[in-house]
Amino acid sequence: MVCRARIRPYNTLSVPLTPFVTMSNLITERVTYVHHWDDNLFSFRTSRDPSFRFSNGHFTMLGLELDGRPLLRAYSIASANYEEELEFFSIKVADGPLTSRLQNLRVGDELLLSRKPTGTLVVDNLLPGRNLLLVATGTGLAPFLSIVKDPDIYERFERVILMHGVRYRSELAYADTITAELPENEYFGEAVRDQLTYYPSVTREPFHTNGRVTDLLASGKLFRDLSLTPFDLESDRFMLCGSPAMLRDSCALLNDRGFRESRRGVTGHYVIERAFVDS
Ligand SMILES: Cc1cc2nc3c(=O)[nH]c(=O)nc-3n(C[C@H](O)[C@H](O)[C@H](O)COP(=O)(O)OP(=O)(O)OC[C@H]3O[C@@H](n4cnc5c(N)ncnc54)[C@H](O)[C@@H]3O)c2cc1C
Repeated sequence: MVCRARIRPYNTLSVPLTPFVTMSNLITERVTYVHHWDDNLFSFRTSRDPSFRFSNGHFTMLGLELDGRPLLRAYSIASANYEEELEFFSIKVADGPLTSRLQNLRVGDELLLSRKPTGTLVVDNLLPGRNLLLVATGTGLAPFLSIVKDPDIYERFERVILMHGVRYRSELAYADTITAELPENEYFGEAVRDQLTYYPSVTREPFHTNGRVTDLLASGKLFRDLSLTPFDLESDRFMLCGSPAMLRDSCALLNDRGFRESRRGVTGHYVIERAFVDS
């Protein structure tokens, strides 16, 4: 089986100036919060129009007006669909057309958002299973932040494992939210405490877990650490979001073991979304 990460080289929704997204498809929101994690990563929140609906795991187009035209990029929504504000987790690309500007956002600034969130990282695309493995690298964590805040996930799966692979420890954004805040949530904190395992790993400096997420999966280390049977086709369901290379390697790993990707609304053992498109 061929993986979509290989055969669909460019996500048309991230064409630099998306000509089919007109100003009338867009809503304007105001920035309410900005947090810089380090020199490469930041998060921000915006107001949310009540008509803006999405499923946890979706992405939307987001950006700024530049010379009278919208400059938009795909962004996963990091807040859950029941929250009042929208949250996003962003890279800072020094010469990136959007993020070279976006990283200067201030509270009160205006942002453009497409009214039509979409995406494949939704739980309804997966066959029923026992373990949900959310595998992210870098800003690929964003869609899973909304998913781990979804109480329904803990009804559908016995265990939820959130892997986050980064280069440096400073890039382990949201670690405190996941390990300290979510377990105390008054509505689903108990489910988080009992069912969610956070599994961060770092590739370029010492940490308690080192290595690429694909190596940790392929070598069986992740499964050993969590006392799980490796790649159990009956039990394991995967959602993957990361670089095109990570997705390509992960798809190969899963396909070789008989897992089938969900496509065109047909449920499968796994779903993927690119965290960005290589130029
Ligand atoms: C479905 C989808 C969802 C996305 N969700 C997010 C998100 O939640 N947060 C986010 O920061 N970006 C996300 N992106 C990437 C985003 O659309 C932009 O590429 C990013 O904001 C940089 O925009 P830019 O105009 O500054 O540079 P671009 O011209 O868009 O990118 C320049 C180069 O920077 C690198 N790059 C871009 N984005 C990233 C990234 N996130 N991580 C590592 N390298 C990157 C790539 O090599 C790219 O070719 C998503 C992309 C897709 C396709």
